[in-house]
Amino acid sequence: MISAAMKRKSWLNGNVIVMFVLSLCALVIVLPAGTAELPGDPKQVAFEAIDRNADQIAAVGDVLYYFAEPGMQEYESAKFVKQTLESAGFNVELGGAGMPTNVWAKWGSGKPVIAIATEMDALPEGSQTPGSIPRKPLVEGAPGHMEGHNVMGAVGVGAAFAVKKAMEQLKIPGTVVLSIGPAEEQLMSRPYLVRDGYFKDVDAAIITHVADQSATGYGLQNYALIGAKFTFKGKTAHGGVNPWDGKDAVDAVVLMDIGFDKLREHLRPTYRGHRTITMGGIQPNIIPDVGQIWWFIRDANGPWAKENFDKLVNIAQGAALMTGTTMEMEPFGAAWPTLGNKAIAEAVQKNIEMVGMPKWTEEENKFAKELQKSLGRKEIGLPTKVAPLQAARQNSSSNDIGDITWVVPTGTVRFPVVVPGVQGHHWTAGITPTMSIAHKGAVVGAKVLAASVLDLLTSPELRAAAKKQFEEDTKETKYFSLLPPDAKPPVDLNKEIMDKYRPEMRKFYLSKKVQFK
Ligand SMILES: [Zn+2]
Repeated sequence: MISAAMKRKSWLNGNVIVMFVLSLCALVIVLPAGTAELPGDPKQVAFEAIDRNADQIAAVGDVLYYFAEPGMQEYESAKFVKQTLESAGFNVELGGAGMPTNVWAKWGSGKPVIAIATEMDALPEGSQTPGSIPRKPLVEGAPGHMEGHNVMGAVGVGAAFAVKKAMEQLKIPGTVVLSIGPAEEQLMSRPYLVRDGYFKDVDAAIITHVADQSATGYGLQNYALIGAKFTFKGKTAHGGVNPWDGKDAVDAVVLMDIGFDKLREHLRPTYRGHRTITMGGIQPNIIPDVGQIWWFIRDANGPWAKENFDKLVNIAQGAALMTGTTMEMEPFGAAWPTLGNKAIAEAVQKNIEMVGMPKWTEEENKFAKELQKSLGRKEIGLPTKVAPLQAARQNSSSNDIGDITWVVPTGTVRFPVVVPGVQGHHWTAGITPTMSIAHKGAVVGAKVLAASVLDLLTSPELRAAAKKQFEEDTKETKYFSLLPPDAKPPVDLNKEIMDKYRPEMRKFYLSKKVQFK
């Protein structure tokens, strides 16, 4: 539509068909700044590439779905994405920041550098037969994609490819990066990527996630979080015979829990603090020599979360002192709140409106309604309207992708793949991520993402506005790492789960060869 408008505009130069000109005005207004001097419309080239490769994008998402690898175990997924991107001409590095399953792909050279960031990890116990509304795991007890991250991997690959096509064809200078970080579900990788300088030369980024609508937003979207496991070690003894010889590590766990409860009154009302006892002894007549408690501490911004967390560490030290045990802390997840850039959000919104919603079939809507009915939700079917641009309402969840947004001006793209009423992290969210609903939503997501990256690549004005907004947003609060300086990524995370289930899961792997064209 836009390239046709551009062509007609030049053809009309000096012409006097006033009516025609007037009718074209509305079309011309939607042209983004900075693309006027290009010999063609980059978005049109990208959209054509996405439509041409819709089956390939779907196939990437489907292949990832059946790998169903939880955080830090995305070995097959990373290998597959690497091969797919390399065969499309990208330069792909695995293993960044000490994480074997980290994917960092790029194409092009020099400035500006625009990154797409997303994730493709599955969740423990999420295995489900796609398309089946009754509970029917593919492999009983195995992990599965119950948040649609498989589609996010596909959309990232599809959008990056489409951007490359437009850059090649129209000789757009710069670099497009696709960053797929491991273990988002455990909030594990981005602080390490940022710490190791991966985003140092990136001028702007777009992060993307599945949703039940086509939307963007700006401002603070969620909470900061610091996680850690505290392990206490004491001395075992017989609980009945010689308890005075024991040093009870589970007593330390309990005292830490009580200590934090005493602290609660003195924290800001915005805080969140929750824990699970991961090692609690064997039986009552054995004084336990090991005890472990795992905490998530959150607050509305990074510095407050850190303040709360430092108090928690003092409590742990106090608990060790009281019980004569030793205490070791293992950092386990960290995240800054996601900060959406308003200037980028405005550009993304225009693309969302330009691309529009998928055209759902009656069958797709019927299926969505059946699923909603089975969950006791309103049977509203699939969304038909894009969401209006608005400031985010800060919720108290967390996502480690937030760290990126404090070092690079970042926009967000949410695309319509989730059936409204279906909750992520529940097996019912594993029913649709390989169905046509997901495939169509992925096309919309890839188009909005590619168009927004192209806006950032081609418009110095947009990059400047985004930078100015970023400087304003981060004036009061400067980024620092919430990780202890010596923290290392836990690369064995979820390994036991995959060792146990992978042989059975392998039987379901798809042998699809994906080749973008
Ligand atoms: Zn997610």
